[in-house]
Amino acid sequence: MTLTHDSETSTASDLVADNQQLIGGDWGPSVTGRTIDVINPANRERIATVPRSDERDVDAAIRAAQQAFPAWRDLDATSRARLIFKWADLIDERGAQLDRLESTEVGRPSWGPPPMASQLRFIAGQADKVHGTSLPTRASTSLGLTLREPYGVVGGVIPWNAPGPMFVTEVGAAIAAGNTMVMKPAEDAPLTPLALARLALEAGIPPGVINVVTGYGHEAGAAIPADPRIRRMGFTGSPATGRLIMEACARNLTPLHLELGGKSPQIVFPDADLDAAVAGMARGITLNTGQVCAAGTRVVVHRSVHDEVVDKLAAAMQEVTIGPGHQQVVMGPLINEKQHDRVLGYIELGREQGAELITGGGVPTGEDFGNGFFVEPTLFDGVTPDMRIAQEEIFGPVLSVLTFDDEAQAIEIANGVDYGLVASVWTNDLGTAVRMTRSIEAGQVGLNTPIGAGTVIGGPFGGYKNSGFGRTMGADAVLEWTQVKTVSLQSAARA
Ligand code: NAD
Repeated sequence: MTLTHDSETSTASDLVADNQQLIGGDWGPSVTGRTIDVINPANRERIATVPRSDERDVDAAIRAAQQAFPAWRDLDATSRARLIFKWADLIDERGAQLDRLESTEVGRPSWGPPPMASQLRFIAGQADKVHGTSLPTRASTSLGLTLREPYGVVGGVIPWNAPGPMFVTEVGAAIAAGNTMVMKPAEDAPLTPLALARLALEAGIPPGVINVVTGYGHEAGAAIPADPRIRRMGFTGSPATGRLIMEACARNLTPLHLELGGKSPQIVFPDADLDAAVAGMARGITLNTGQVCAAGTRVVVHRSVHDEVVDKLAAAMQEVTIGPGHQQVVMGPLINEKQHDRVLGYIELGREQGAELITGGGVPTGEDFGNGFFVEPTLFDGVTPDMRIAQEEIFGPVLSVLTFDDEAQAIEIANGVDYGLVASVWTNDLGTAVRMTRSIEAGQVGLNTPIGAGTVIGGPFGGYKNSGFGRTMGADAVLEWTQVKTVSLQSAARA
């Protein structure tokens, strides 16, 4: 075990071993022996290496999952649930280590023990509530009913921005429904998923039920939906990759769900508690350095309170402390150089297209920042709906302010993007809240809260429009991983 980094990861060293992935209960390298370095984005130091897998490793993982499937499917649902509950308990026990590990590979500050165990417990509790219905029949001698059954071996691909929560919600739902899974975490942040898989084995979830294959998207990732033995796919990531996954699934007629990007509006009405709105919006855009699909990236504010909101937002964003996550700052670095270039590119584009830079826009300098991928929290005012910074997902701490005069215009601006993941409405008026909630095209609506329904335990999470389809949390997520069989039972020959 050679996790090379300092005390930041050493506490997690019994959870993650260098150059090992999990196939059928065995930890080992890729078939080729090739590796990928996992980098701490705060200082570009190598934290660990993971196997660089390709379709041969995916093939082995699929075979292991196929072998494990019949016994896992046939295990009674209460026992499946009990094992997943036990997994959640171990996640709680190791909460501080997992938090440290994820914060090091993602670059975010510590959030304290991660809340993912509660989401997983909600999912575990659904395992024995997956059931069908009884139906009317033509004859009194027959019964009609439906069964909900698992698909078999299913596949998942997840991104780097919240690797722990993504892993437990996607894997938890798939296996709660009785499937066995091949999961590929992101190459930038595979360590927390590997640690979580280790805890799943320790909890007694049988070998082969959860298989984690690490590697690049175009190699290991692409091999999963390309394989017809994968009976269902779940993907979370960018719309561009989502299209590739869907095309691969189309070739095999594999059903799937997609959790893609967002451009979530924060609509501020004059009657709102403006201080709470500003604090929430500043927190929402700097959380995880803005690398959150649900981030409220567009402030859509009523003209009468525009100046006050912009002044207060600028002050709040200037107070944000930046640095490596372990220094207890508010905001860490971006994940990698590509993402750094992308965010700075969008800031330049905002300037070029005529938005007014109110604060931020640069790269912080000083010894704390080393050669990490830091960027300042950035606020643009005077943004119009047609500007690219108002339309495209930046995935960084960049907030754009747009102004409205009446409710109809607020709705038009809010809905005037391709995405539909989350919307927040800041108002104390019940009528406004209800009308806006009904008019907004988004999978989650937050009332006086910055990132929608993110704090709801068991709330189904997913998009409208190009933000995707299907749901990844709660009871709906478990049902996503089931298919329906209609059964007719005849007690005597038909008349
Ligand atoms: P990405 O699409 O680049 O990568 C996501 C995953 O897909 C990674 O594991 C990557 O290795 C893999 N991948 C890349 N190319 C692939 C291919 N050809 N075939 C199969 N797999 C491939 O996205 P990212 O940059 O890692 O993540 C950021 C994106 O994820 C943003 O758009 C963000 O909004 C979105 N996201 C959405 C949600 C949600 O729930 N809606 C949550 C988090 C992130």
